Amino acid sequence: MENPLDTHGSYEAECAGCDVFTRVDDLMLCEECAAKLDRDLIRERDWEYSATAWACPEARREELRAQVIREHVAKLELIAPSPAPKKPKKGRGRRKRKRRRKR
Ligand SMILES: [Zn+2]
Repeated sequence: MENPLDTHGSYEAECAGCDVFTRVDDLMLCEECAAKLDRDLIRERDWEYSATAWACPEARREELRAQVIREHVAKLELIAPSPAPKKPKKGRGRRKRKRRRKR
């Protein structure tokens, strides 16, 4: 197993999350922001993007998420709450239209 603290490949730059000039990872995030992002991904259930969740057995991921929320906060820390693309767009999906017959 690879050591995530291994400095291999890391370099110093401005963090994309907090604008601090420090050592960043390949996502241009400092250690702190990378941890935030990791937790955000778990909150969003983007398991495959989170290194922590990815290494976690699938059956225990919900447990992991509950733990993250319990130990930190439930809301997203780094990812800006974007308009969820999962939600149906307004004006579409009007399938529940009542059929009224005029006589
Ligand atoms: Zn940062």
